[in-house]
Amino acid sequence: MRIYNTLSHKIEEFVPNEPGKVSMYTCGPTVYHFAHIGNLRSYIMEDVLEKYMRFSGLDVKRVMNITDVGHLTSDGDTGEDKMLKGAKREHKSVMDIAKFYTDAFFDDCKKLNIKTPDVVEPATHCIDDFIRVISSLIEKGYAYEAGGNIYFDTSKLKEYYVFHNFNEEDLEDGVREGVEKDENKKNKADFVLWFTKSKFDDQELKWDSPWGIGYPGWHIECSCISMKHLGEKLDIHCGGIDNAFPHHTNEIAQSEAYLGHKWCNYWFHILHLNTNDGKMSKSKGEFLTVKLLEEKGYAPVIYRFFCLLSHYRKSLVFSWENLDNAKTAYNKILAKVASLQKETAGETDKASYDALMAKYTEALDNDINTSNAITALYDVLKADTTPATKLALIDEFDKVLSLDITANARKQAEQEENTELPAEVASLVSQRAEARKAKNFALADELRDKITALGYKIEETRQGTKITKL
Ligand code: AMP
Ligand code: ZN
Repeated sequence: MRIYNTLSHKIEEFVPNEPGKVSMYTCGPTVYHFAHIGNLRSYIMEDVLEKYMRFSGLDVKRVMNITDVGHLTSDGDTGEDKMLKGAKREHKSVMDIAKFYTDAFFDDCKKLNIKTPDVVEPATHCIDDFIRVISSLIEKGYAYEAGGNIYFDTSKLKEYYVFHNFNEEDLEDGVREGVEKDENKKNKADFVLWFTKSKFDDQELKWDSPWGIGYPGWHIECSCISMKHLGEKLDIHCGGIDNAFPHHTNEIAQSEAYLGHKWCNYWFHILHLNTNDGKMSKSKGEFLTVKLLEEKGYAPVIYRFFCLLSHYRKSLVFSWENLDNAKTAYNKILAKVASLQKETAGETDKASYDALMAKYTEALDNDINTSNAITALYDVLKADTTPATKLALIDEFDKVLSLDITANARKQAEQEENTELPAEVASLVSQRAEARKAKNFALADELRDKITALGYKIEETRQGTKITKL
């Protein structure tokens, strides 16, 4: 399997530290608001990466943090703690906000068929780990105290800008937003490890530390949580491209200074989802969420399909028109699969199975090229082989694509069958469904008898309600 590594700017063969085993770390959400569908693009593409590694026989352990403290409105350590901002907005406590939006994030993930990582760790559970690593960085001379805060001294490193395509100018972000410049820093690129001199009198979450009461910086959270669960050598680290600098650059600086050796071998970054008028933002009032997609009549899996149609290293433009096109294409796939399900399956043909599977693995082996993997799916649908072969391949592909193809094709076919019913029968069927939902089984039985009297058999199957002409 080959993937693009932001460290080398090249597509490389993926070779884990320990043969057959992969340690994978993902920057989790900052739980101060709902995730927007841009955030979720990153998690969908990381989910494909993780599932494809497992599909290829690798034993993956994936860890994700939950940022519930320390992420300021500017990544350059200026502004307000995002969590506090969320709490003020909703007149709730920071912990209530964290709980509510963590749950909301995992609900969204479930709807998008994103697997929950093996370990999910909120930053607020690891304060002792942060203090231990920061103390060691001070001891080793990589960190200093100034104005009450603890900073990482980037001038102590041979190379700080490890991803090359970023520079000091990128750190001006916070200043452009009109937020005060931090005069305590010895070097412009230095970053906060621990805030003791809170800029906010009402910072709700604070902990005791050797340097006074305070709270951790955002970057130290990911380094420590990764090392806690995945050890001193990490195979692959993921996140959206905005995380590469300064967040991941800072993670590398402090982790390698602490460990004294190389920390993570592969960096996997997903390009952004944008709208026609620019960047996705949560500060612009109504923003695009899974809930909004559902309200507008799009099943979340359509959005997953829309994301898979493009390569993760290309930025993607969201528009309702583009989503409609994805919906039409997805429904066409379902219709084709539904007609396959009705045919006599026949035997699986090994030669064509292997050839079609090879196209699919070739696509994903080549830097997780999901759009070519979808082409491989179309190739299966068009192929001159038995329905059994096609259906078996689709089920295998869907272990990674997670588009619920066979189940949704069956559902769609049933719905179509139901809509072909005479109006009187269809009405009795829906009344019976309502009665069953209300647990009024006597009425449900009565309605079944009426349906039977009109010449239709109704039965409950694992795939849903099935109606056939008697
Ligand atoms: P956050 O909740 O802000 O910490 O971000 C969660 C994840 O979403 C991180 O991996 C970000 O890099 C990623 N992300 C933020 N904005 C976008 C976007 N517009 N498109 C794709 N990923 C994004
Ligand atoms: Zn992180």
